[in-house]
Amino acid sequence: MKTFTYTANASRVVFGPGALQALPAEIERLGAKRALVLSTPEQVDAARRVAALLGERAAGLFPKAVMHVPIETAREARDEAKRLGADCAVAIGGGSTTGLGKAIALDSGLPILAIPTTYAGSEMTPIYGLTEGGVKKTGRDARVLPRTVIYDPELTLTLPLAMTLTSALNAIAHAAEGLYAHDGNPITALMAEEGIRASAAAMQVLAGDPKNLEARSNALYGAWLCGSVLGAVSMGLHHKLCHTLGGSFNLPHAETHTVILPHALAYNAAQAPGAMARVARALGVRDAARGVYDLAARHGAPTSLKAIGMSADGLDRAAELAVANQYPNPRPLERAALRALLQRAFDGEPPQT
Ligand code: NAD
Repeated sequence: MKTFTYTANASRVVFGPGALQALPAEIERLGAKRALVLSTPEQVDAARRVAALLGERAAGLFPKAVMHVPIETAREARDEAKRLGADCAVAIGGGSTTGLGKAIALDSGLPILAIPTTYAGSEMTPIYGLTEGGVKKTGRDARVLPRTVIYDPELTLTLPLAMTLTSALNAIAHAAEGLYAHDGNPITALMAEEGIRASAAAMQVLAGDPKNLEARSNALYGAWLCGSVLGAVSMGLHHKLCHTLGGSFNLPHAETHTVILPHALAYNAAQAPGAMARVARALGVRDAARGVYDLAARHGAPTSLKAIGMSADGLDRAAELAVANQYPNPRPLERAALRALLQRAFDGEPPQT
């Protein structure tokens, strides 16, 4: 076994159908008395439900979270937290809402309690993102890691099927890249393989029966494991490409992950055979990259950049941006090979394995 270092991110997890009912006790456990409840405008009803559960421990609502945490929204939420004298933030929603909570915590150190309703996994990471002047910057800071996470699969029953599938593939992407991370370790590898297995198995059921609570539980369990991997080790080519495509070309987050992952795995396959074997085993297929592509295609999830809003004349620039600064990845980043990868992804072709 190779030498490794592993820092576990400490958070408390409360998991299960109906787990939301534990919220008042969990807030008390944090020693908080005035919670600011965060959500997107679309999930304001869920935020109101949370506030009602909290009763007098709810300081107010801020239902204005949007994708990629614009600095203006972060500032407004920080001001609102100060104005209301909030001593914690409760974020109910996907990565955008958790991200807003993190922006508050980064500035004030307020504890966050996250209630994830997608499979993005942000609740398990000390990674934050803020967008200023159209540029998204990310960083790591222990203060932004949610102290408590309540995973209640009942809250994911409303997640539309298309988003369910792409969000689960977003989770799988964290785990797959974690398996070949230069700073990976045997513990994160266990979580990654099990996270991929649980997420893919859940997808198979949810594609035909989106209200299946057992499968919703499995998908959230998978998302938890995959998010933990994202929080503990470094990501490679896949995340870099998705960051570039999301940040510079405004492509939707989970859909971009869904399209790119098979191609990023194919790019790295020869240099990371052990990781590929584990991804393939978790999916129950022979080839990891093809298995991920088929998983998306079989259920009607997007397989082409063109279909999710990329324009062909942006592909050259995307390749330039991806190689602009080299970072750890099993295979060195080569411009021509990445340009070819992007073309295949644009056209929706299967990965070149
Ligand atoms: P999202 O949070 O933007 O949610 C998308 C839409 O789905 C929103 O309108 C939301 O209100 C709605 N929604 C969420 N859950 C729902 C449910 N159960 N029922 C009905 N509607 C629901 O999407 P996301 O993919 O979860 O998050 C994407 C963002 O998170 C990106 O900005 C990404 O960069 C960030 N992210 C950050 C990390 C990290 O570690 N910092 C990790 C993953 C993602």
